[in-house]
Amino acid sequence: MDVTRAGDAPTTPGPADWFTGDVLIDAAAVPGEGSRAAAAIVHFAPGARTAWHTHPHGQTILVTEGIGRCQRRGGPVTEIQTGDRVFFAPGEDHWHGAAPDRRMAHLAVHQVDDAGQAVVWGAHVSDDEYGA
Ligand code: MN
Repeated sequence: MDVTRAGDAPTTPGPADWFTGDVLIDAAAVPGEGSRAAAAIVHFAPGARTAWHTHPHGQTILVTEGIGRCQRRGGPVTEIQTGDRVFFAPGEDHWHGAAPDRRMAHLAVHQVDDAGQAVVWGAHVSDDEYGA
């Protein structure tokens, strides 16, 4: 058993290489000691979003606040809101973020691969792709 105190796990900003706009990340599960489970609570300011990316073992997001958008490569931009759950298949190229004029928060759940990676990052989502 290992207790991580809130005060020892600071909120971190989403790195500009991987996100557009203001994003705040709180770890919810960190892999280790035989566990591949990883999870985070992510807050997106209006207009903020991830870059295009894939997850080696897929990912589930559960929207916990607000209204957002997501898209898989080749599919339509899809609105999501509080209570909606989205599964992205392993290797499926996609992005997720807030609506243009509403914040959005989600719980993201995924697994790391043998190399400890949970995400493979690509290019930023352009304004045209986002549809702002
Ligand atoms: Mn994702």
